[in-house]
Amino acid sequence: MRVHVLASGSAGNALVVESKEGAVLFDCGLGPRVLAARLRAVGVHPEQILALVLSHEHSDHVKGLPHFQKRFSVPILATGGTWDALGGVACGGELLHLGRPSTVAGLSVLPLPASHDAVEPAGFVVEGGGLRLGLLTDTGVVTELLLDRLAGCHALFLETNHDLDMLRFGPYPPVLKQRIASRHGHLSNAQARDALGRLVHPALRQVVAMHLSRENNCPALVEQELGCVLRGGHVKLAVASQEEPLTVHLEEGEP
Ligand SMILES: [Zn+2]
Ligand SMILES: [Zn+2]
Repeated sequence: MRVHVLASGSAGNALVVESKEGAVLFDCGLGPRVLAARLRAVGVHPEQILALVLSHEHSDHVKGLPHFQKRFSVPILATGGTWDALGGVACGGELLHLGRPSTVAGLSVLPLPASHDAVEPAGFVVEGGGLRLGLLTDTGVVTELLLDRLAGCHALFLETNHDLDMLRFGPYPPVLKQRIASRHGHLSNAQARDALGRLVHPALRQVVAMHLSRENNCPALVEQELGCVLRGGHVKLAVASQEEPLTVHLEEGEP
């Protein structure tokens, strides 16, 4: 199985999980030209995309949606709250229910409740080919429920949005700082580190740090923070970026 982070961050998000049956796009926060270029760069043909799954309605996750709907006639899945925020279940729209798995392109996709200032935001556990992936960004906290459901993943794509000191002393207005650091904002490096400390287990192979803030974080800090938990272990760490796609290969049927 291959997972491609096409882009990650507040300027646009999209991730592709390639299964044997095809590919599923998670979020469509890229315009048509960038989406096409990033797919080409990672070797995914647009016709391979069999479905789009949306995490929530913020523009960095859905701004490419109108064009996607015109270009691709594939099912688009989101929670009822996300569809409401987007103006109703669109043509080809399908409902996801938090806590209830759906089968999408041969993969099991379980939406989980994220804690974020959107109507019904979701993280996901994706299973297929003997592999279990956790996708969690845009959440202010990692709840006990999320920790429970994300246990046993072979790869975790986990938000590390900001360094708390960089946010605190950075250029953002106080209201925005408060929003980001709140329970309904974004995960700090320290929160991600603590969650990862609870989620590391012998079969975890890969961690990808996601949704880094350009202003309030830097990859070296993320590597240092998460490295504390992963040091000396068997887990590979990568940091996803806004500008460059990143591909993770996972051997199917790994223990
Ligand atoms: Zn976002
Ligand atoms: Zn968001």
